[in-house]
Order: sequence, then C-alpha cells, then structure tokens
Amino acid sequence: MKCKECGNDLVRVEVAVEDADSKVISLQCPACGYMEFEEKSSNKIIDGLKSKRIQMKDVEEKIVKMNDQQVGIYFDRETAERLSLKPGKTVRLSFPSKNKIIVNLDR
Ligand SMILES: [Zn+2]
Repeated sequence: MKCKECGNDLVRVEVAVEDADSKVISLQCPACGYMEFEEKSSNKIIDGLKSKRIQMKDVEEKIVKMNDQQVGIYFDRETAERLSLKPGKTVRLSFPSKNKIIVNLDR
C-alpha cells in the first residue's frame, strides 16, 4: 500500500495492545511519518476487548488510615467475591496518571 500523504510504500508493523489477545496491524510511512491502523485487525481487537468486559458498577470507597506509614482502601464483599480478591493474593499497582490507579490481579 502507498502512503496517502507522500506516495511512499507503507511498512506493516504489528503493535501490541494491552489486554488484547492479538496484535493490531499498523501501516506506517518511513518517509513522512504517516500512520494508519488496518481496519480488520483494529475491529478484532475492539471486539475482543468488549467481550472481556464484565458488567460491574463503579464503587466509591474512602481511603482509610491503616497506621502511621500506610493508607488503604477496602473492597466490599460483593466486589471481592466477583473479582476473587483473597487475602494473601498479590496485586500489581500501576499509576498511569496522578488521579488513576490500575490494580492488576495476577491470575
Ligand atoms: Zn508518507
């Protein structure tokens, strides 16, 4: 395929998408930097991510003081059961921005 901007040959690059089972194909122009995603592979990723979503409402919890060194968040019983949160299990926290925490559960 040719670049829509400059006519150069586009290069196929496989891009990994977090939580997706397959990779999305991106077509990139090495000459001008133009980039597009192949529609078929993009749709496959979107469908895959949609099917993994579970129906759970957002919950609001207060941050509580555990001791002088730590604060914590409680999960209500229903949430804990649905997500199989068990004492002793390890979770991995990541912080994509100052007001967002992602809790990754090891399976
Ligand atoms: Zn180009």
